[in-house]
Amino acid sequence: MPRTWVEIDTEALAWNCRLVQNKIGDASQLLAVIKANAYGHGAAIVARTLHDLGLRWFGVASVEEGKALRAMLPDANIVVLGWIPPEELHGIFESELIPQISDMRFATALDAQAQRQDRVQPVHVKIDTGMGRLGVFPRESENFLGALSRLSHLRVEGILSHLSSADEENLEPSQSQQKIFDEVLRQSQAAGLPVQWFHLANSHAIFRMPHAHYNMVRCGLFLYGLYPTNDYSFDFSLRPVLSWKSQVGLIKEYQPGQTVSYGRTHRVERPTKIAVIPVGYADGYNRRLSNKGLVLVRGAFARVLGRVTMDHIMADISAIPGVQEGDEVVLLGRQGDNRISAEDLAQSLDTISYEIVCAIGPRVSRIPAKQEIALKNSL
Ligand SMILES: *Cc1c(COP(=O)(O)O)cnc(C)c1O
Repeated sequence: MPRTWVEIDTEALAWNCRLVQNKIGDASQLLAVIKANAYGHGAAIVARTLHDLGLRWFGVASVEEGKALRAMLPDANIVVLGWIPPEELHGIFESELIPQISDMRFATALDAQAQRQDRVQPVHVKIDTGMGRLGVFPRESENFLGALSRLSHLRVEGILSHLSSADEENLEPSQSQQKIFDEVLRQSQAAGLPVQWFHLANSHAIFRMPHAHYNMVRCGLFLYGLYPTNDYSFDFSLRPVLSWKSQVGLIKEYQPGQTVSYGRTHRVERPTKIAVIPVGYADGYNRRLSNKGLVLVRGAFARVLGRVTMDHIMADISAIPGVQEGDEVVLLGRQGDNRISAEDLAQSLDTISYEIVCAIGPRVSRIPAKQEIALKNSL
């Protein structure tokens, strides 16, 4: 057993994928967002599983992520959703990636490079309908699309926008973004641009805004079976895909007065049995879980004592009988009757589940979980 590892339940991933596909039907393509190492789940294992399920559209954040994915999936359509530094432009051609376009400077440079390579480069144009991040503002979109159509080595294959608030109870901001998007869609059609793909919806909008699917949707979080927080008011019967585990390293008996970890922030008051667990903030176990986090050992909760360190945490196992060195420790996931969810961890850290799973570091290997045969038959 490694120090710490992540297990990916590929059956749960397939389950969530089917759920999303049933929701969108045949009229829309599902673009799987696997940026940031598939939200920490491991891009390789996630991409392979989704590709086996028939998916051919993937979204990454950077040229580097796109390059790694291309090496694995020669036939995939790979859209780079993030901003791309001009120096990385050549990588788009090398790995046959599809960039999103938000400005003329980048578009012109891309067109020039495409011309040199004697190629026509497909691009997706991003419209900032209210996200306030990437994309051209709607008031500029008509001119922008016009200018792009004059660049002979670019082909506007798609137009997209991103919702700022689709996870919130109030859908009005999303609906107003959709109206603006519709207007841009009409502009592009009036201008006779042969745009093939229109996409606006993220996970939340896929389920909550069925009229915002257009012919492509971009799904990240829900594929991984996560909700942003425990307060999220909707249950779409998703199944969490990721478990994060470690093992009991050393077991030690501390006596009253002895302290635990840097800064001596925990002082033992009664004889206490403590497990030293080989996972730390360098693996993505947040330091703010010092004296606060819970882990599962033998199906029971054990509290983190003292500060989280770079490579180790200490947990109180006094109340758990029979713990032995080498026992499995669950940091995130299920063990016995208990579970620690990414939403729980997000709650104790005042963040969202997205950040919890993305933070799991490259030092942690991602492996497929052992499958339960019964689940396979139920799919
Ligand atoms: C990350 C991202 C998504 C996926 O959002 P989820 O909420 O995880 O479904 C979709 N579109 C863009 C542009 C993104 O950056």
